[in-house]
Amino acid sequence: MPEAAGWQAELEQLKAVSARIGSDPLLTQGAGGNTSLKVGGTLWIKASGTWLAHALEHDIMVPVEMAPLIAAVEAIDPAAEQAHQFTVAALNKSGLRPSIETTVHALMPQRVVLHVHCVDTIAYAVRSDCVEQVGPRLAGLNWAHVPYARPGLPLALAIAEHRGQRPDVLVLANHGLVVAAETVAGAEALLDDVKARLRIVPRAAPEPRLDRLAQRAAGTDYRVPQSEAAHAAATDPQSTGLAAKGSLYPDHVIFLGTGSVIAREGEGVSDVVARLGTSPVTILFPGEGILMRNDATPGADAMARCLADVLARVSEDAPVRVLTPEEHLQLTDWDAEKYRQDLARRAAAKKTA
Ligand SMILES: [Zn+2]
Repeated sequence: MPEAAGWQAELEQLKAVSARIGSDPLLTQGAGGNTSLKVGGTLWIKASGTWLAHALEHDIMVPVEMAPLIAAVEAIDPAAEQAHQFTVAALNKSGLRPSIETTVHALMPQRVVLHVHCVDTIAYAVRSDCVEQVGPRLAGLNWAHVPYARPGLPLALAIAEHRGQRPDVLVLANHGLVVAAETVAGAEALLDDVKARLRIVPRAAPEPRLDRLAQRAAGTDYRVPQSEAAHAAATDPQSTGLAAKGSLYPDHVIFLGTGSVIAREGEGVSDVVARLGTSPVTILFPGEGILMRNDATPGADAMARCLADVLARVSEDAPVRVLTPEEHLQLTDWDAEKYRQDLARRAAAKKTA
């Protein structure tokens, strides 16, 4: 069956591209981002909670039947958020659930779709003047700006509004980037192109005060982050000022909580915990760096680094739009996300065991 061999080879190509995208923290962080390939009526999509970085080591692609999923979106049926109901059981060897963002991929008519949390794109996507900023840079491409909507059915409906235009590039406000093409190579080339057009030189941040942070962490439930780059959110005053405004995108809320907790003058770890009445996943110590709770998952560490990378690309006077209290509530009270969080915790527990 040469035809079958053809799409299987394409799926292998997509996995290779996925692993490349997944290993670049400026494109994807933790379990964020997802890729897909359409083969006839079947959508091969990254499984929820899995990491693109592991695409070549683990079976992370799940087959989903597209027609009933698209019908559910069109009927504004909440079943559209339960994409696992539409998996092709006979082909789904891993038994995993498809990504929460499966509908994003199903709604794009192109065969190959790459969705990334590109930090350069996010630095524009958090601005209320995103269209004016991005428009000249993406001139000549068929792109669309999608106003913020919670991932899942709301985002699918927001994307569906643009179907007539058949865009190849979507800039998702307060979220990220989608590129689509008919081939894997075409999609990767388009991603490289958009990434280059939207590239922003990050502000250099002062070095973290690792000695001070080690003293602060001693005897507490906190540790330094896995990536030293994460400290920039607290060592660069402009970044800290921006972080104080609130949450900029969904994965921040899901992995790190609402907004950023910034220690006040003279406060240590225990003072911050006492003030809040709870232990936040991260604490920013201005001028010094950040600390992470000991039980923070690798995904949370990746998101802490992402915050620093995004903030370093936004100037303090930029018109930034943060997520509203209602948008936070929609993210924290969401079953699909609880599943993904549960997988992340189990994976982290397995690693330390
Ligand atoms: Zn996303």
